[in-house]
Amino acid sequence: MTERDSDTVKRALLPLDANIPWLAGLQRSLGDAIENDRLGHAVLIQVDPGLGGEWLATWLAARLFCSTDQSIQPCGHCLECRRVVSGEQPDLIRLSPIEDSKEIRIDQVREMASELTLTSHGRGRKVAVITPAERLNRNAANALLKTLEEPQGSSLLLLVTGEPSRLPATVQSRCTRVGVPVPPIAELEAWLRAHGGTATDWKAVMSAIGPQPLLALQSDAETIADLQRETVRALDQVVAGTLDPVETAESWGKEFFALRIRCIEHWLVTRIHDWATGQRPANTEALFAALDEAREARQWTETPVNKPLALERLLWRLNAIATSRRPA
Ligand SMILES: [Zn+2]
Repeated sequence: MTERDSDTVKRALLPLDANIPWLAGLQRSLGDAIENDRLGHAVLIQVDPGLGGEWLATWLAARLFCSTDQSIQPCGHCLECRRVVSGEQPDLIRLSPIEDSKEIRIDQVREMASELTLTSHGRGRKVAVITPAERLNRNAANALLKTLEEPQGSSLLLLVTGEPSRLPATVQSRCTRVGVPVPPIAELEAWLRAHGGTATDWKAVMSAIGPQPLLALQSDAETIADLQRETVRALDQVVAGTLDPVETAESWGKEFFALRIRCIEHWLVTRIHDWATGQRPANTEALFAALDEAREARQWTETPVNKPLALERLLWRLNAIATSRRPA
């Protein structure tokens, strides 16, 4: 995402006692594994971004460090729990791409590995959370492999990723794998209404940022919903030939590029769905070609590509959908 997009979509961390239904089953089984000492040294949590992977790893760390002897939930109030949440727990190491870097690098992994070999400050356990783990670059993943092959004492590695296939097979195979299926949008919407209020058009927000409820909750939801609705209106007009693709692309390319692309993609998927269910005729060849192009454009958000030009190309494709439907 561009800098402007990131302002609108902020990172989130809910309290440890948050009720996140799609994670509850995994929380139970991870809790059982701790109880029965079956957790192992490394757990790979497969969960799409924005569904609470980082929160789950934090919850699990708190569950391990919590100084009350509750077996099911971390208490959330003791010194250890508060330290986990505030990032001050000395035995909890977090690895993420540093600032502008898009990668987790080898020196970060080496530093983590040497931390894990030190004596713990507290109850004897050290935990490292790597998120998003697919950002480990090749050298970093190789260095991590060494730690996975020679685990230190009772250390625990938690790898959180939406794209495990981007990790080397050797890393994947040395972790216990658990996963969170993406819940239906209606369930996510209901959860957002319960936690973020009924006034917001959460469906529109998720059309723009994807099924990422935790992200949606902490973002400037009204701005995103407005942007989504405005984009959809404009796309309908582009197809109808009443809005100039060049001017639209020029204005959209200036800010919120990633969100616009996501909205366009969602709009196309909806149109294809309408066609497939017989609700609306379509030039399917043009629709699918536009969808391919939109998906490709999504990868340009972090590149210096000429964004107005990329959008213009995409919008002309949409414009062509209508042209080809008009009688000759
Ligand atoms: Zn506690």
